[in-house]
Amino acid sequence: MSLEDMYQDVILDHYRKPHNRAPSLEGEHVHVHHSNPLCGDEMDLRLRVADDAVDGLVFDGEGCSISQASASAMTAAVLGRGLKDALDLTEDFRRMMHGEDPARLDDLEDAIAFQGVARFPVRVKCALLGWMALRDAITTYERGASAHTVTHED
Ligand code: ZN
Repeated sequence: MSLEDMYQDVILDHYRKPHNRAPSLEGEHVHVHHSNPLCGDEMDLRLRVADDAVDGLVFDGEGCSISQASASAMTAAVLGRGLKDALDLTEDFRRMMHGEDPARLDDLEDAIAFQGVARFPVRVKCALLGWMALRDAITTYERGASAHTVTHED
């Protein structure tokens, strides 16, 4: 089995059995809604913070398998991390989706399986949707706000 096939299995597995997918989160601090009109992906992300760390994180949404599976892998990789650490990991994933080698291979966990998506520019936004919602949720929390909606059209 090639690495590519293995990665495809990881992606399919997250799509079929998503981690941390739920329509609500007890004690949530921030709720953001992001969409990717290019593909029709919709993403709700809810964040609860404790001791400056990601204490609770759930997503809910609809769209292509890449967007939903990537959000699932993202939540698994960042739950429990400090906010700054989670933002740093988000930046690493973002760079990876723009063709750079990730610096935090092990910390990305299953999210590493999306590296091949970087070769398909129209799918990059799908893979980034959950991570960009996370970055937005954390910076929104740090600003002291609680909810908003972002539509990515660029
Ligand atoms: Zn998509």
